[in-house]
Amino acid sequence: MIRLADIVKSFGDLTVLKGVSLAVREGSVTALIGPSGSGKSTLLRCVNLLEIPEAGQLVIGGETVRFTGRPPERETLRRVRRQTGMVFQNFQLFPHRTALGNVMESLIVVLKWPEAKARARALELLDKVGLADKAQAWPAQLSGGQQQRVAIARALASSPRVLLCDEPTSALDPELSLEVVEVLAQLAREGTTMLIATHDLRLAARVAQDAVLLEAGEVVEGGPAAELFTRPRQERTARFIATLG
Ligand code: ADP
Ligand code: MG
Repeated sequence: MIRLADIVKSFGDLTVLKGVSLAVREGSVTALIGPSGSGKSTLLRCVNLLEIPEAGQLVIGGETVRFTGRPPERETLRRVRRQTGMVFQNFQLFPHRTALGNVMESLIVVLKWPEAKARARALELLDKVGLADKAQAWPAQLSGGQQQRVAIARALASSPRVLLCDEPTSALDPELSLEVVEVLAQLAREGTTMLIATHDLRLAARVAQDAVLLEAGEVVEGGPAAELFTRPRQERTARFIATLG
């Protein structure tokens, strides 16, 4: 459903992704784990083409993008980006919009939906993340966990094929991170396709069917999450898992 093949991405002299391949099955969740600086965020940004790889191939929603060193067509960027929703570590809500306004924004600005339709969809999504009663709250009035749940609703607004989450719980206390884990687990049960970069083993073990360990821009090991976490094949994987405690 989403397939990255031999993705190479550099910043100047630094090659951050050295030929990364991975697949996310439709309706399933893949956890992307790995040390800081291993290239997790860059990889997620290559899926929504916020970064353009120099080489490799991305298959998403029946569309194949081959990276050749030339920038993709604008129309390709637009189509691929519309198939993805992104959730960031630090929520990145629009501070001058209410919770409802944050979720409605892309429906109105990008998809040009009429206000009433966008509002109905946004309220439905806020209800899904358990925040129907916070629709009129400003981001600053919400806890971190609530802000992240609004961010998840916002990312889902345009019905993306894949939800990309970049360390969605790492800015939160354990207690607040739990409410975000619960929302992601519910989405997973409903069959939302997700690629989640995380250091949070509780999140990964709860939500992901598959896991991939990235180290220094290379895939060390990938496979069923339960096996990777409990019976890794690679020594390096075992060592990394041990650091997560
Ligand atoms: P992770 O998310 O696993 O911590 P990142 O993808 O953020 O890793 O970063 C991988 C490497 O790429 C790091 O060495 C980081 O400094 C570098 N990097 C990321 N983005 C940029 C950029 N825009 N310009 C230069 N270097 C970058
Ligand atoms: Mg990162």
